[in-house]
Amino acid sequence: MNVLQTTGILQNLQHTLQRIDNACRATNRNPSEVRLLLATKTVSAERIKIALEAGQILIAENKVQEIKEKYDELKNTPHESHFIGHLQTNKIKEILRYDIHCIETVDRLSLAEKLHHRLSFENKKMDVFIQVNTSGEESKFGVDPKDAVDLVKAVAQFDRIHIKGLMTIGLFSAETEKVRNCYRLLRQLRDEIKALNIPGVDMKELSMGMSGDLETAIEEGATIVRVGTAVFGKRIYPDSYYWNESSHA
Ligand SMILES: *Cc1c(COP(=O)(O)O)cnc(C)c1O
Repeated sequence: MNVLQTTGILQNLQHTLQRIDNACRATNRNPSEVRLLLATKTVSAERIKIALEAGQILIAENKVQEIKEKYDELKNTPHESHFIGHLQTNKIKEILRYDIHCIETVDRLSLAEKLHHRLSFENKKMDVFIQVNTSGEESKFGVDPKDAVDLVKAVAQFDRIHIKGLMTIGLFSAETEKVRNCYRLLRQLRDEIKALNIPGVDMKELSMGMSGDLETAIEEGATIVRVGTAVFGKRIYPDSYYWNESSHA
């Protein structure tokens, strides 16, 4: 790791935090309401550590394999770890080995049910977000918005799982207003679910917004923005590799 690479990450981080701060001020939100989550797919443990040692806390991977590969190198540096990829049921047992704080991508009852059973077996609990497909694209995972309330109610019955909010990827587009509609839909769903006061469901978090559109997400109420490229630079794999696993089985 050379000095230039280190300063690059630190400068990018500073710039990203400034963007979050500016977006909060522009919408009269308190910057402490919005957390930066570092999306670390393809980023080496060594480079992730630079951000953690600079005071960042929240990181997330898309693949269980990558969590595993970086786990030993990161375990002694304090952080909070989320999962933001598509979770296959046959990976549940494995993911529970790596101190994940929150699975942001619970999008179907069968997954929640198997997760609950495994958590019971291991006498553990897990925070989750419900992932919603707000863009209507078939390539994106997430529950259909019209089924989201029912899914939340069903998952709420599993006492090993704590629902803390909603997550979406949204439309990957340069057209801000189309992206905004996705984020707005997620917030509306959050408010709708919150009003139902479902026991055991805490609808505080809205995980939405990425490098290109975090300002829009913050304007629409994001409490977590997930940023990779803006801090660590461009990745060599296209995101479809992570967001549409079915074509890369
Ligand atoms: C990679 C990724 C991000 C971050 O995307 P960038 O455009 O690199 O900021 C956010 N959310 C998910 C689910 C991701 O896979």
